[in-house]
Amino acid sequence: MPELPEVETTRRGVDPHVVGRRIVALAVHEPRLRWRVSDSLPAEVKGQRVRQTGRRAKYLLLELESGTLLLHLGMSGSLRVLPAETPRMTHDHFDLLLDSGVTLRFNDPRRFGSLHYTTENPDEHPLLAHLAPEPLDDKFDAEYLWRITRKRKVAIKQLLMNSTLVVGVGNIYASEALFRARIRPRRQARSLKYEEAVRLTRAVKAVLKMAIKVGGTTLRDYVGADGNPGYFRQKLYVYERHGKPCRVCEGPIKHFTQGQRSTYYCPACQK
Ligand SMILES: [Zn+2]
Repeated sequence: MPELPEVETTRRGVDPHVVGRRIVALAVHEPRLRWRVSDSLPAEVKGQRVRQTGRRAKYLLLELESGTLLLHLGMSGSLRVLPAETPRMTHDHFDLLLDSGVTLRFNDPRRFGSLHYTTENPDEHPLLAHLAPEPLDDKFDAEYLWRITRKRKVAIKQLLMNSTLVVGVGNIYASEALFRARIRPRRQARSLKYEEAVRLTRAVKAVLKMAIKVGGTTLRDYVGADGNPGYFRQKLYVYERHGKPCRVCEGPIKHFTQGQRSTYYCPACQK
């Protein structure tokens, strides 16, 4: 599933191909995505120039002259920049054809992705208005983490993955950040000391930044993917490394199931 780093990688990959370009046509081949693509959308965006790209949580934003396209990759979606005449494949659901002769093509086997358009401030769109802070934003700092953990008995890892508190910290990034911050994933959120909140917010940001730098963790068809797939995996400390020696203390990495997700940690390095 595309996580925040993959969406940001996609945005960076797409950006130089779309900014400043005019939309020749939006061709919707399959409108039945997570939400039905509006029938009026092709006419609304046709002829508009793309001013800039953006991202909010896992939504990719294309700011046009009169509005903003909001694209979500869902569980299995990917965007590719292709010559317009490239034959379509199964699960290619729409093409955003640009005046440069390329198309931004959306493929999504499971159709959990979505495409919306708004002429209002996109931050106030119903899909974005109530999103929690971005982990890479200054709003996600030790003060904030400290405050939201105070009365919560939930395990700290599950709190990190709660998208109503902070968006886009998936399983892999939560596990890695907790290792770097030397905090056990099962600890009650409210047991965090302030200096641990400092370490953990820093670790979350560092892990996500590194993942973005190397192009995400689950590289497959993402545009701009010039890195070697699995490169980020070589840098992982705990995720899917159970039974292997800890890269810091050489003791065995352990795993257990937490909220139906596998959690990995080093019992010696994490307290
Ligand atoms: Zn260790």
